[in-house]
Formats: sequence, C-alpha cells, structure tokens
Amino acid sequence: MLSCRGLAYIASDYIDDELGRVNRMSVRMHLMMCPRCRSFIESLRTSTELLERHSGQPLSEEYARSIDRQIERALADRHDR
Ligand SMILES: [Zn+2]
Repeated sequence: MLSCRGLAYIASDYIDDELGRVNRMSVRMHLMMCPRCRSFIESLRTSTELLERHSGQPLSEEYARSIDRQIERALADRHDR
C-alpha cells in the first residue's frame, strides 16, 4: 500500500499522466482512502495547470524538483505532528 510520502514522491508524475498502470492504480486507491492526499493532489494539479498556462510550456525539471521538495517537507511536517 502506497504511503502518503510515496504518493507525494510520484504526485507530479501522476498529474502529468506519466505513471505506469500499476503506480497509477495505487495512487487512485490511496486517494480513495486519504482525503488529505486528495486535496493535496487537487491543489497541486491546479497550480501545475496555472503555471503551464502562464508559461505556455511544461514545467522545467528544476522547478518540478523544487515542487517535489516542498511537497515532501509539507508532508513530513504534517506527519510528525
Ligand atoms: Zn495520504
């Protein structure tokens, strides 16, 4: 079963639809059971779409990685509390 951390790690690939079938399934199963990750994915999707529309091109690798780091930090904070 995918953890919240594991989900955060592959969330941007999930949004870009770049996950394999197995990973996508486990993300969906996790989202069904975890409202926190569901709203997390939703807000990530929204900000990704806004950014792409704004720049007219997909996010750069570097920026995607910085988002990943922010996500991991946010999740770590939440879980340690
Ligand atoms: Zn979760």
